[in-house]
Amino acid sequence: MPQILDGKVVREEIFAGLRPRVSAVEARRNHPPGLAVVLVGEDPASKQYVGNKVKACTALGIYSRKVSPSATISTEGLLEVLHELNNDPQIDAILVQMPLPKQVDSRRVLEAVAPEKDADGFHPLNVGHLVAGRPAPRACTPAGIMEMLKYYKITVDGRKAVVVGRSDIIGKPMALMLLAASATVTICHSRTRDLAAECRRADLLIAAIGRPALITADFIKPGAAVLDVGTSRIVDPAEAARLGRSEEFKQKGAAWVGDVNPVDVEKVSGAYSPVPGGVGPLTIAMLMSNTVGLAERHS
Ligand code: NAP
Repeated sequence: MPQILDGKVVREEIFAGLRPRVSAVEARRNHPPGLAVVLVGEDPASKQYVGNKVKACTALGIYSRKVSPSATISTEGLLEVLHELNNDPQIDAILVQMPLPKQVDSRRVLEAVAPEKDADGFHPLNVGHLVAGRPAPRACTPAGIMEMLKYYKITVDGRKAVVVGRSDIIGKPMALMLLAASATVTICHSRTRDLAAECRRADLLIAAIGRPALITADFIKPGAAVLDVGTSRIVDPAEAARLGRSEEFKQKGAAWVGDVNPVDVEKVSGAYSPVPGGVGPLTIAMLMSNTVGLAERHS
């Protein structure tokens, strides 16, 4: 049986490391690290993500502020909101919940977050810092995967890593972080020829695609560590049964799976992060870590 990479255990370890740092910041300047979460409109999924982020702040003693402009706000209006937060001494880190409504220019908005308050590490200056190997807030999900590899003592240095997916928020920063840790990195995407053959070369396989159970046994080198970032909701009971998720489907009327076939990965891999419960919990943990890191620089 492969080793299960449990995101909740790693999250608790990260939280334990953050608590004394939160207290130290608060002692130094009389107010705790502060995170502002900007949620435009009423999208239920986004509301739930924001709720979870606020809950994590509360658990760690981080000050959080939810800013909720209406769904009809203009780009200029949102830039004004960010300008105020950039100049607010109580706020160390700012996160703009994506996606934004169609009338808003998302790129301009993300670039308007001050780089020194960039909770997500998405600002081009911080992406540049990542490329150059300088300290800066890092994209949360890939940074969480690096923490998971560290926690479970999975060697990165000198090993072959394949990242499937090249998005700005996961695939690209993931590849850069693995490269910085001295892996030999291949990035795959929808135009990659013979994806299975590329993946089979990987000692570390990171799937960030958004296609349920696309990665099957023939993509996985025996003994490889497989980190599954994808999250897809399955609403077909036959598909849920094929992926060993009948029980969950019966209870909830749907099942969540990743990009990796959960039945196959158990048979072939040496270690894997399940969905749910693997990589997922680490994204918020690293958001907290970025917030505390920024607050330390401001204090
Ligand atoms: P995205 O922007 O849609 O990027 C998906 C990537 O997968 C693209 O680079 C795309 O290639 C590639 N791809 C699509 N179909 C492919 C195929 N058949 N073969 C090979 N590559 C293929 O998605 P994302 O934002 O990176 O998110 C990826 C997944 O992670 C989603 O399921 C998302 O829900 C999940 N996610 C999880 C967390 C978490 O905390 N666990 C956080 C964020 C996202 P092209 O570039 O060629 O189109």
